[in-house]
Amino acid sequence: MSTPISDTFGQQLRQLRSDLLAQVRAQRGGTLGRAEAAAEARESDGGDWAQADAERDLGIALGERESAELVAIDAALQRIADGSYGLCVDCGVAIATARLHASPTAMRCVGCQTQLENARGEVAVPKL
Ligand SMILES: [Zn+2]
Repeated sequence: MSTPISDTFGQQLRQLRSDLLAQVRAQRGGTLGRAEAAAEARESDGGDWAQADAERDLGIALGERESAELVAIDAALQRIADGSYGLCVDCGVAIATARLHASPTAMRCVGCQTQLENARGEVAVPKL
């Protein structure tokens, strides 16, 4: 009678995924612009080496964050496919729907996530 939770979030996750990919593409464009500007400013002492270095540094910085997000989205889609979506990977309880709405890639209930973040002392990237 009601739409299964996995259908609702599957759609949302696929949307997030395509948004993220569009965002990465847009940011890569911006990155190349900044790297080129940086290389230009350094042209007198750096040449090709400085440009390659700036592009690589910015590319890596962007890539890590966005690829972690993409991995989290793909993991969530995988969990929808195997039927475990919406269950905490640590304690197995159903994750609050409100939490999933706020963060569709959430793999842990609030309690386990808080514990994890406290243990790491940073914002946690979902562990696979
Ligand atoms: Zn839990």
